[in-house]
Amino acid sequence: MVLCLTSAQTEALCRHSQQAYPEECCGVLLGQWVEGDGIVVEVVAMENVWGRGEVGDLVGMADRDPMDRRRNFALDPQAFLQIQRTARDRQQSILGIYHSHPDHPAVPSEFDRAIAWPEYHYLILAIEQGERVTMKNWQLDDQGEFQAIPLHLANP
Ligand SMILES: [Zn+2]
Repeated sequence: MVLCLTSAQTEALCRHSQQAYPEECCGVLLGQWVEGDGIVVEVVAMENVWGRGEVGDLVGMADRDPMDRRRNFALDPQAFLQIQRTARDRQQSILGIYHSHPDHPAVPSEFDRAIAWPEYHYLILAIEQGERVTMKNWQLDDQGEFQAIPLHLANP
């Protein structure tokens, strides 16, 4: 089981995390499942809406600094529904969700685990000093713990 990305998609992910720095960026990976592997067809950048309106309350994290998008992300639920519809129309699937960790390792936080769905890949981009990006991909196992899932980087 792997997640396959092209180098152009990898570049788009790196650029998004650089543009959002020092805040977290987030988005969705659309594509196809082929024999258990996720083949990414499109990287859909989304806005990090953490701290906007009631989103923080919805996920039960009202004790967190509601404005701190440097350590949190939230996907806009309406925009996410729209992407789900688009994916269905194109006969694609949402393979996973990506977000960045500014100046922090590419390891899921306890909060990342709490909000994760078992069917999705969770790609985390660690970005140091707004420049150097390291990616790691994760998925929940049957015990609800994140396991690293290999990335397969293909050309172009
Ligand atoms: Zn995270």
